[in-house]
Amino acid sequence: MKSDKPRCGAKTRSGGTCQKFPLLGGKRCAKHGGGAPQVRRKNKQRLERYAVEKKVAREVQALSVDAIDGVTDPLAELQRLTTEAIHFKDALGGMVNDLEKDISTYSSDGVEHARTVIDLYGAAMDRTAKFLEVAMRHDIAGKLAAIEEAKAVAVGAVLMRTLNALNLPPEQIEKAHKIMVAEFRKQELEAADE
Ligand SMILES: [Zn+2]
Repeated sequence: MKSDKPRCGAKTRSGGTCQKFPLLGGKRCAKHGGGAPQVRRKNKQRLERYAVEKKVAREVQALSVDAIDGVTDPLAELQRLTTEAIHFKDALGGMVNDLEKDISTYSSDGVEHARTVIDLYGAAMDRTAKFLEVAMRHDIAGKLAAIEEAKAVAVGAVLMRTLNALNLPPEQIEKAHKIMVAEFRKQELEAADE
């Protein structure tokens, strides 16, 4: 009977390692300390934490934050990660809100669940704050805007060179320039509306 599941692995008197399966959520079998009350409690906490994290991860995935294939643009990736951290925090915030207000009516499992959700929410808030701090320190939004602006300037320069190459009279060039500026502005407003 072969299995890839991890074994207890405690040293045995014969010099080998214990091949029994650990207790649920733990690392050791019952014979090697896995069943001690404080160990059982830790195991239970670990399982609860895992269950909550999985649920939240599913919720965040359902929001389908734009995935980027490979990391071609670190700035965009950092912005994506920040957004994902915020979604993760918000999903946990929702779970905190769903907790019953009166904790005295909770079963011990319920208390464990509440504690796990609140702990994870706190950790998610810290993580989000860190991401936002990094994003702010590097002025991510500003840099992305600058990249867009640089692209726009490049397009504008190409259009101007094209106009000049047409050898139009100066007043026509000026008129074309005004139209271009107006059209760019219109385009910008439309893009901002999206
Ligand atoms: Zn064992």
